Formats: sequence, structure tokens, C-alpha cells
Amino acid sequence: MSEQTSPSNTPVNPLRSGIYDTSPLYQNAVMDLEFAGTTMGIDPNVLERLKLPKRALCVNVPVRMDDGSVKVFEGYRVQHNTTLGPGKGGIRFHPEVNLSEVSALAMLMTMKCSLVGLPLGGAKGGIRLDPSQLSRAEQQALTRRYTMEIINVIGPEQDIPAPDVGTDGQHMAWMMDTYSMAKGNAVPGVVTGKPIEIGGSLGRPESTGRGVIYVIEHAIELLKKKNLGNFVLKECSAVVHGFGKVGQVAAYELFIRGCKVVAVSDYFGGIYDKNGLNIPEVMKYMAANRSLKGYPKAEVITNEQLIGLPVDILIPAAIDGVVTKANMKNVKAKIISEGANGPITSEAQHYLESQGVTIIPDILANAGGVIVSYFEWVQGMQQFFWNEKEINEKLAEVMLRSFNRVADNAEKYKCGMKTAALISSVERLSQAMLLRGLFP
Ligand code: NAD
Repeated sequence: MSEQTSPSNTPVNPLRSGIYDTSPLYQNAVMDLEFAGTTMGIDPNVLERLKLPKRALCVNVPVRMDDGSVKVFEGYRVQHNTTLGPGKGGIRFHPEVNLSEVSALAMLMTMKCSLVGLPLGGAKGGIRLDPSQLSRAEQQALTRRYTMEIINVIGPEQDIPAPDVGTDGQHMAWMMDTYSMAKGNAVPGVVTGKPIEIGGSLGRPESTGRGVIYVIEHAIELLKKKNLGNFVLKECSAVVHGFGKVGQVAAYELFIRGCKVVAVSDYFGGIYDKNGLNIPEVMKYMAANRSLKGYPKAEVITNEQLIGLPVDILIPAAIDGVVTKANMKNVKAKIISEGANGPITSEAQHYLESQGVTIIPDILANAGGVIVSYFEWVQGMQQFFWNEKEINEKLAEVMLRSFNRVADNAEKYKCGMKTAALISSVERLSQAMLLRGLFP
């Protein structure tokens, strides 16, 4: 009988049903972890535990729609690892959400929090739907019912949700209100990414996009120091894939630094101007139309064409699995900062790095969001709030310290930044896991 193999080509474990392994994102996350683990010589018992989430809750969320009918939506909350502190991770509303994808995103959150030194674990949640098809009232009912369905596993000391693809501060306000109604008092610390009026932090909405650009600046400095490139940001060209909460801020931060952002895109496609787009104007158009479709002052391009444009910098800031074996050879950018989680598959990453492309990995590049979420949580717990200058300075400091740790490990282990980021993360996490030991 031939031996069955898993996607990462290791023999199938008879103790496992494989329910978490079904998505490419999960398969890639495990492959990357195994690769980093082998490179650093990870304790095999730690690796075994990190390949699976600690807990996964599946709920079915019934909602009365505006027309009086009832629809049931699939929802999830997954806690991957809580060794370092409460679970932390966004809530995604997207048509492709499933248990495996949410579990992979929870694993990335564990790695991210550990890498940047936060006292938080990794979690993620999501509901499988296209939010553009639901009215505001339907979205509110869905968010509140979902919160009640997962209420026993979330809380300021247990697991703290935040916005992700398809959700924003309003969804967090509904979650906070529902949780608070159930507990009998206001509990702002149950979510982050809330509006300022109910305990949100200044600088939180911009934090992820800002961090994506800070690390590009550090990478440019590093390349110069190593004589591997002499980029000057204000003379560079860039494209941004995904023009949502992360992509818009990243594009704006490039624009104000004088970098030419020649194309941006959303779910429906992209817009291109070889002389550089006026990003504030594009943002205004997006706010008014909720899509880039029909923007009058640029050429129309596809998302695929955007990925292959001849530019210095590529920022994937939409979803996972965007640069794959199928299109990796089209990429011409020399620096990639992963605004999205898992936008480049493992195979494409190794290929691009072999071609001299610098990839600043998701768990480092987009960590700005969870760093300022942590500041929001701390401010909420002590009811003492910082101004935006203080927030931005603290964010920049944590991003730089984390970048340097990754760069040092890339040098030490002679590997790319993606592997080095995972090593930096696992170094801290595995020490904590071994110190705490295995219960019972
Ligand atoms: P968002 O919903 O605000 O924006 C997502 C954007 O991607 C939209 O413009 C949407 O149209 C586009 N998009 C969706 N599917 C697409 C597809 N198939 N092809 C092209 N474009 C597509 O979400 P966001 O909060 O900006 O998150 C974007 C990415 O950044 C996600 O991977 C998320 O996990 C990651 N991230 C977000 C934060 C945060 O603070 N919001 C923090 C860390 C990581």
C-alpha cells in the first residue's frame, strides 16, 4: 500500500482528520514553519504543538434579513496559541472564509505578536459572506448574534477581536456593545479598532498602513548598507494591490514621501497612470463610490496586470494567495512589503528571493495594526490615553526593533526575511512554551 502524504509531503498523522489543512494558506503556513524550524533547530515537541490551533469554535449565525426571511451564515473564532497572553486577531467578513483559512490567520497572529514582543497570543475570526450584499441593519444583526455565539471564548483577558477584511470600527462598536450588554457594564477592552468615542486609540486606523511603509524605509537603508541597492524612496515607483483600510494608508504614506504610486486596485480591478496617481483624490473617489470602478483620470487595468508592472515596490494589501507559482515570474518589483496576510505562497517566496527580491514578510510588515491595538487595549485597561504623536513614536520604535531582530537573524541563519521573521518569533515563543511546560 502506498503511503499517504500531507500537502507538506510528510506522512499523514493517523491522529489527525486534516480539517485544518484544507486551504493553501494553512498548508503554506505549516510549510513555512517547518522550514524555519529546520533552519533554527526547533524543539520538535514545540513544532508539533504549533502546527495546530489550541481551540476552534464553529458557529452558525441566523439573521433575519430585511425582506423577512432568515439566512444562516457560517462563523468561526479560532485561538491558535495563548502562551504569551490573551488571543488577539481580527474578524473577517469575506465570501471565502472557512475554518482552515481562519486557523492559518490565527497562526500568523501568534507569530506576529511573538515577533514584535507583545504579551498576546494569536487568534482570528470570520464569517463567510459578501458584506456588500447585506444592508447596515442586516450587518448589525449578524455582528451582534455572532458576538453572542462566541461570547464564552472572548473577553479582555481571554481573546480580543479587531477589524479585518470587510469589517471596521462600526462592527467593533456593535461587538463591544453586545458584549457589554451581556456583562452588565461597559467593557471597552473586549475589542480593539473601536471608534475613538468609545475608547479607541488615536492612530489605530492608520497604524497598519504606516508600519508597511516604515519597514520599506528600513529595508532601503539595509540594502544600501550591504551594497545591494541604492533606492531613494522619493524616486521610486510603486503599486498597491487592495485599496482598503491598509492599502489606502500605505499608498498615501508613499505619496506624501514623493514616491510615484502608478497603480492601485480593489476587488473589481485596478487603475493605472504611468506618471503617478493623485492618491488623496483617488481616496476621495473611493469614499464616495465604495469602489475604484469608473475613476475618470486613469487607465483601467486588471489585478493581474498590476502585479506585473515594472516598478520598484509592490505592496500586496488585499488577501492571501495573490503571488503564486502561476504569476511569480511576472513580478518585476525589487522590494515587496506584505500588507496583507499570506499574499505570497511559499514557492513564490523562495523563487522571488532567489531572484534578489527583498520580501518584508506579513508578520513584520503589517504588525503595526496589532501593535497599536495593544496600545489601545493598555490605554483602555488603565483609562489613560496617549496623544497621536506618542502613539506613532512608540509604533515606530517597536517596528524598528522588530525589523532589526529579523535582519540580524537573516544574517545569522543566511536566510530570507520571511524565514528570519518566523525564527525570531519562534525563538521567543518556544522559550515561553518550554518555561510554562505542558499541562498536566
Ligand atoms: P479591507 O476590507 O479594508 O480592504 C481589502 C481590500 O482588498 C479592498 O479594497 C477589497 O476590494 C480588496 N480585495 C478583496 N478581495 C480581493 C481580490 N480577490 N483581489 C483584489 N482585491 C481584493 O481590508 P484591510 O483591513 O485593508 O485588510 C487587507 C489585508 O491586510 C488583509 O489580508 C488583512 O488580514 C491584512 N491586515 C489588516 C490589518 C488591519 O489593521 N486592518 C492588520 C494586519 C493585516
